[in-house]
Amino acid sequence: MCSVLNNHQAPSRDIALKNGELGRLTHIISGGYWVQNGQTERAGESVIALLHSMPILQRHLGWTPPRQMKPGSVRCPGREKRMLLAVQGCCPVGSWVIVHCKDRHFIAQIIEILHSSKGNQTLDLVTLHEFTLSEALHHYYEMPVLHKPERHHLVVNSETIQFIINVQHDCRAAGCSATGSTRQRQERMESGQELMH
Ligand SMILES: [Zn+2]
Repeated sequence: MCSVLNNHQAPSRDIALKNGELGRLTHIISGGYWVQNGQTERAGESVIALLHSMPILQRHLGWTPPRQMKPGSVRCPGREKRMLLAVQGCCPVGSWVIVHCKDRHFIAQIIEILHSSKGNQTLDLVTLHEFTLSEALHHYYEMPVLHKPERHHLVVNSETIQFIINVQHDCRAAGCSATGSTRQRQERMESGQELMH
């Protein structure tokens, strides 16, 4: 807008000034402080509340209120059929998680998320693939190693999922080859060169 409605003498300066004004508005309306006449000032509660109550203001400033989700609840985002678990973030199918069930903690991978509702009654279950942690570290990576026990499939209530963890495939032992590739980018443009992973 500010690069269109100006006299084109110094568009970069006009854009910089407009961005500065927007930054100042964001600072004030999100509850930031400033010094005026030696005193620390802040916008009133009604001004700060505007950001939480006006979606159009949130969209213009690129801010969304944090979504309140009950831990263990399941939802279907957008038109996707995939369901997510809300436990310190979202766990899609395939995630590795820590589970607390029947007085024990264990590591598992989510195979399936089941959701059923009748009236205001809902039932959320998760099918897990349970893994055990070996006592010895990996001989090369020196990291903990997971193994499949004999009984490894089980169904638990979604509220037993504690949090998501990062588990990586042992590509060295399995002999995986470098199959991933991405286009190398230079200053936001694709350079035409490919990088192998
Ligand atoms: Zn691999």
